[in-house]
Amino acid sequence: MKKVDYREQALRLFPWVCASCGRDFNGKNLQELTVHHKDHNYKNNPPDGSNWELLCIYCHDNEHSRLLDAEWLSTQNPDKEKGSAATHTPFADLKNLLSKPRNDSGEDEQK
Ligand SMILES: [Zn+2]
Ligand SMILES: [Zn+2]
Repeated sequence: MKKVDYREQALRLFPWVCASCGRDFNGKNLQELTVHHKDHNYKNNPPDGSNWELLCIYCHDNEHSRLLDAEWLSTQNPDKEKGSAATHTPFADLKNLLSKPRNDSGEDEQK
């Protein structure tokens, strides 16, 4: 859990309230409270919390206006979005058809 360490720190620094809509959080729904980086740089984590803002996931989403930058993605479950893309090859059958050996190789040269 080293990656989201700044969240732990931010939760210790700030009251558990969304800075945008004012919703307050407790242990039960705390997972919906996320840390927003004011400069959108998730690597900029000053220990005094000057770059952090606590936002609920909805306000955080709004804040980035669907611009899925690295900071926002890092707060999401990374396994969730990983689908099994590109494992199905729709042209596999076509390939078989093309490489099918011809059985009717009779002598049909036209002279
Ligand atoms: Zn909010
Ligand atoms: Zn953010």
